[in-house]
Amino acid sequence: MNADVIIIGGGIIGNSSAYYLAKKGLKCLVLEQTMIGNGGSSRNGGGVRQSARDVRELPIAMYAIKNLWPNLNEELGVDVEYHQDGNLRLGKTPAHLETLKKLTQKSQAAGLDVKMITGDEAREICPYMSQEVIGASWCPTDGHANPMITTLAFYRRALQLGVHFITGEKITKIELHCGKARAVVTDAGNTYEAENIIVAAGYGSRAILNTVGIDVPLYRMLNECLVTEVQPPMFWQMLGTAEADFYGHQTKHGSFAFGGSSGLENYHKNHKESDSAKSTSMTAESICRGIMKYFPVLADAKIVRHWAGWLDISADQVPIIDKVNEIPGLFIACGFTGHGFGIGPGVGTIMSELVTGEPTCVRIDALKYDRFCAKA
Ligand SMILES: Cc1cc2nc3c(=O)[nH]c(=O)nc-3n(C[C@H](O)[C@H](O)[C@H](O)COP(=O)(O)OP(=O)(O)OC[C@H]3O[C@@H](n4cnc5c(N)ncnc54)[C@H](O)[C@@H]3O)c2cc1C
Repeated sequence: MNADVIIIGGGIIGNSSAYYLAKKGLKCLVLEQTMIGNGGSSRNGGGVRQSARDVRELPIAMYAIKNLWPNLNEELGVDVEYHQDGNLRLGKTPAHLETLKKLTQKSQAAGLDVKMITGDEAREICPYMSQEVIGASWCPTDGHANPMITTLAFYRRALQLGVHFITGEKITKIELHCGKARAVVTDAGNTYEAENIIVAAGYGSRAILNTVGIDVPLYRMLNECLVTEVQPPMFWQMLGTAEADFYGHQTKHGSFAFGGSSGLENYHKNHKESDSAKSTSMTAESICRGIMKYFPVLADAKIVRHWAGWLDISADQVPIIDKVNEIPGLFIACGFTGHGFGIGPGVGTIMSELVTGEPTCVRIDALKYDRFCAKA
């Protein structure tokens, strides 16, 4: 197949890039090593938030929440279960409030509508919260959506627009022709050619880019989620904590999806060497402690299932979204560091603009791949 663009990785970033490129009339091929949406994109907590984001990536979140998320159901022809009912980021100690205050001040300076509120004000918004919460940041335009439905909705619409998807193809190498990115090679020895190549393979991006001498410093970390049995409708806000160790929301179906980490996942003996994202024995318990401490009303809710997913963490915790200047035809979108779902539609839009050479909808200068290179 002769494509204009090869996209490596079938997560929300790869699928949304393929969709927005196909909408502009480009012929795309997505190559995915396992199944579409099998990475973090379908395993995440569904948070679509601007608050507590690094100001370097905040403009993408603000753009996506203003311009893309509100129309996504119509655009993709599927209910992605998007709720824009605000985000409460909770604090239980004075140190938590200090952390939240600093994050809030930086976001306010960047133009975001977010403020600090007291514990009682937070309980007015979400009356089920425990008395242990002494304050929170409140961003009324944040929200959440269903990650699996959204990721597969982009896939489905891209398919309808003629994007070709091949699963079970692990890319091991990019090949250059006359200094330009021109082909990718799989571990089965297959070669696919295109004028442009987007690397959107999460943590796998680093090894792929290394084959053409580009290094983006990434490491991976396990994060886990669980869902409760169905509860009566209680609240629609997205919830997080000052230390980002617990988050969650009630889904349209009525169950609660909560996530978090114990901090010990990477030391767990089954995970050190394994590639598969499996739940550890201790994280679900940590998340349950979070539920009991923050939402005692849910203390007896039964847990229906739990799962894990890898985060691709960049060295400065901010994504790499760029066109590679020294290798024409090569583009990078990775290192989303546990917050790439909410900006996924924005990143797909930006990748389509980078490939077609249009100005990007927001500035991405601070997200360049060469920010990690030693300066002479
Ligand atoms: C438990 C958990 C909770 C999270 N909560 C949130 C949240 O609430 N809000 C938020 O915004 N974000 C959240 N995130 C982060 C979010 O899920 C990711 O940032 C986002 O999904 C990144 O999308 P992606 O397409 O880059 O990566 P992925 O979905 O991981 O897709 C990358 C794809 O590339 C494929 N691939 C890798 N190597 C190769 C190769 N060599 N050849 C071919 N294919 C390859 C993988 O199989 C994978 O399918 C969470 C993540 C996890 C794990």
